[in-house]
Amino acid sequence: MKEFDELVKLEKVLERIEPFGSVEKLATVDHGGQTFPIYGLRIGAAEKRLPTFGLFGGVHGLEKIGSQLVTAYIDYLANQLSWDASLVDLFQKSRLVSIPMVNPVGVYFNRRSNGNGVDIMRNGPIDAEVVPEKPSLVSGHGIGPWLPWYRGRDEMEVETQTLTDFVRRELFASEMSLSLDIHSGFGFRDRLWYPYSKSKEKFPLFDQAIDFKKLLKKSIPYHVYKVEQQSDSYLIQGDPWDYLFEEHYSVNQGKSIYIPWTLEMGSWLWVRKNPKQLLSYKGIFNPMVPHRFNRVMRRHRPLLELFQKAVFNNRSWSVV
Ligand SMILES: [Zn+2]
Repeated sequence: MKEFDELVKLEKVLERIEPFGSVEKLATVDHGGQTFPIYGLRIGAAEKRLPTFGLFGGVHGLEKIGSQLVTAYIDYLANQLSWDASLVDLFQKSRLVSIPMVNPVGVYFNRRSNGNGVDIMRNGPIDAEVVPEKPSLVSGHGIGPWLPWYRGRDEMEVETQTLTDFVRRELFASEMSLSLDIHSGFGFRDRLWYPYSKSKEKFPLFDQAIDFKKLLKKSIPYHVYKVEQQSDSYLIQGDPWDYLFEEHYSVNQGKSIYIPWTLEMGSWLWVRKNPKQLLSYKGIFNPMVPHRFNRVMRRHRPLLELFQKAVFNNRSWSVV
């Protein structure tokens, strides 16, 4: 087995962060005679009612940068929590929960899908309102695992089940929770999406999403993100985040808030500066030059910090 650099790094970081919360192996995925762990962690208070930020990466294995960004951020928090009393205080009254690498088989083999060829982001039991005259493979399909964006069969995959169980358990009981799932894709802009991806219909918590957009503008002036409903970019079948949002909203009706956000880092930003990346499939989705990797880490840290502060201070900016 070739070295699994991302997992080795992640396990080191999990050891460092464990004293500030808890770490658990949520599931294992068997593939080709090997076993891959899916880890979950919590930083801060155990009490689930408290404001909670959920951070996710590595859903699409090829987009390694997402998982690396989450891992680097947790490492950074382990450093900061060792000396910053105000941060320790923040985490006594709020929580961060995370699965840094949702799809370890995909990350290891540099592929978008999981070991069964299923796209986790198309594997939720929810259908989109796709216009039939314009079927799109990218939106998700049931043709077969040899094509990307395959939705899988009737049952959810281990990775999707683990993700949805974790979100239900760790985020649904909170008075205010936001989550962020980090991807990288084609495009020049870094896009920050709120639901829906299944429909162009107005998102029920649109007002709260726009409040967050205003908070972002106020807190990070000249920020780089294009904030929009995901369906403004494209429609998706079986998006687990839409599925989870609907489930939470149907019970809570906005009395407690849960909004799953998605960050899609525009990878053409990297390709434009280093056209050689076009020769490498991996390179299209990931910055290859070390200083550029470091810049991506720095570029998004203020956003991650804002999410944590936003859940903690939700009464002062949100129209709940
Ligand atoms: Zn992705």
